[in-house]
Amino acid sequence: MYRTILLAYDGSEHAQKAAALAGEEARLHQAKLVIVYAYDPVPEWLGDPLFEEALARRVAAAKERVEEAKARVGEVPSLEVEVLEGPPAEAILRVAEVHEADLIVMGTRGLGGLAGTLLGSQSQKVVMLAKTPVLLVK
Ligand code: ATP
Ligand code: MG
Repeated sequence: MYRTILLAYDGSEHAQKAAALAGEEARLHQAKLVIVYAYDPVPEWLGDPLFEEALARRVAAAKERVEEAKARVGEVPSLEVEVLEGPPAEAILRVAEVHEADLIVMGTRGLGGLAGTLLGSQSQKVVMLAKTPVLLVK
């Protein structure tokens, strides 16, 4: 029985499938769902107003991603969203710990990576370091 399920979403095909599955699991277990999205840091050497503009663009894109994830997840008993700056695996692991997630759902692959590789680097890292079960969706 899961109480808190974390969905890591980057908009990729695998993450889209992960979102649908995470939604189903959340409904089945009457669990809370936490959607996590991590965006690339804005280089600090960009002075203002470029820094602010770049950051605003990142945040707007993040919002879009999250809305997309919500739509794919569907109705769930309870939903939270965490948008963090920085490497995705670190963000996923931190949110899992803070929210005391008991299941992490993510794609085997994401938006980047080399064709033919079985597991993306972020998935690998999370599987290696997570303290909870990780459900990798193909
Ligand atoms: P790589 O990033 O190593 O070049 P990749 O993009 O194919 O390869 P990953 O980044 O490991 O593979 O993606 C696997 C899964 O990790 C995605 O399906 C998604 O669930 C999650 N993920 C990846 N990037 C993010 C992100 N920025 N925010 C939230 N979750 C992410
Ligand atoms: Mg990636």
